[in-house]
Amino acid sequence: RAKAQGKNAYQLFTPQMNEAVTRRLNLEAGLRRALDRGEFLVHYQPRLSFVNMRTVGMEALVRWRREPGMLVPPMEFIPLAEETGLIVPLGEFVLETACARTAAINAAMGLSLKVSVNLSARQFSDTNLPELVDRVLGATGLPPACLEVEVTETVLMQNIATAANMLAQLAEMGVSASIDDFGTGYSSLYYLKKMPLAAIKIDRSFIRDIPRDPSDLAITTTIISMCRGLDLAVVAEGVETQEQFNFLLGLRCDECQGYLVSRPLPAPDFEAFLRQSGNAPG
Ligand code: C2E
Ligand code: MG
Ligand code: MG
Ligand code: MG
Repeated sequence: RAKAQGKNAYQLFTPQMNEAVTRRLNLEAGLRRALDRGEFLVHYQPRLSFVNMRTVGMEALVRWRREPGMLVPPMEFIPLAEETGLIVPLGEFVLETACARTAAINAAMGLSLKVSVNLSARQFSDTNLPELVDRVLGATGLPPACLEVEVTETVLMQNIATAANMLAQLAEMGVSASIDDFGTGYSSLYYLKKMPLAAIKIDRSFIRDIPRDPSDLAITTTIISMCRGLDLAVVAEGVETQEQFNFLLGLRCDECQGYLVSRPLPAPDFEAFLRQSGNAPG
C-alpha cells in the first residue's frame, strides 16, 4: 500500500519503526497463544503486618514464561494485553489461580490469608466483574473476606461514578479493595473518603529514599496519618532495607511488602516461606 502512494510514502516507515512493529506483532501473537499453552503463572509476595510481624496476606503477580527459563515481567505485556482486550481472559486466569491457591494454602495450613489481585482499567470497568468474582469465589471456596482487589488511583478516578458503584458491589459481596501505587496518580481526597476502601498502598517510589529524603519522608508520614484518620489501612510497597522497615514501624504503618521480607515467589516457594517464617506449622 505504501508503494501505491508513491515514492515518498516509503519515508513513513523507517527500519526502526518496522522493527518496533514486528516486535509488537510477535509479542501480540505470542500473548494470544500463551493462555492456551499455559504459559502464564502467578507469583505471590507476602504482606507482613507491623502489628504482629506475621504474614497476613499476599499479592498475586502474573508472569509469562514465554520460553523455558525466560520469565517476562508484567510491565512488558500487561499494557498490550490491556490494549488488545486479552487482559480479560488473562485477568480471569489470575483471579482463578490466585483464589484457588489461597483457598488450598489456607486449608492446608489453618490460616486465613488474604490474597490481593491487581485489576487493570478494562477489568475494573467490566460490568461482569462482580459476577466473575462471585463465580470464582464459589468455585474455589475462598471466603470473600480473603480476597482483595487492587486498583490504581488513576483507574479509580477515571470514572468516579462507575468506580464507586463497582466498589460498592464488591463490598456488598464482602470483597475489599485497595488503592495501588498511591501518590503517583491524581486522587480526589473527597472521593477517597466516600469510596468503600480497605487499604492504601504507598507507592515504592516514596519508600525508596526514606528516611533520608525529606520530601519522601513528609509524604509518607502524611499519608499514614491521613489514613489513620480515614480508618484506612496503609501498606508500604517496596520495602527493601531494615532502616526503611524500622522507620515505617515507628510511623505506625500497618503493613509492609517488599524484598526485605521476600520477593514474589512461585506458589511452592511461598508455602515454604510461610513454614520457615513461623506462619504455619512446619
Ligand atoms: P504493583 O501492583 O505495584 O506490584 C508491585 C511491584 O513491585 C511488583 O512488580 C513487585 O515485584 C515489585 N516489588 C515488590 N517489592 C519490591 C521491592 O522491594 N523493590 C522493588 N524494586 N520492587 C518490588 P511486578 O511483579 O513486576 O509487577 C509490576 C506491575 O504489573 C504491578 O505493579 C501491577 O501493576 C502489574 N501487574 C502484575 N500482575 C498483574 C495482574 O495479574 N493483572 C494486572 N492487571 N496487572 C498486574
Ligand atoms: Mg499491586
Ligand atoms: Mg503498587
Ligand atoms: Mg504498579
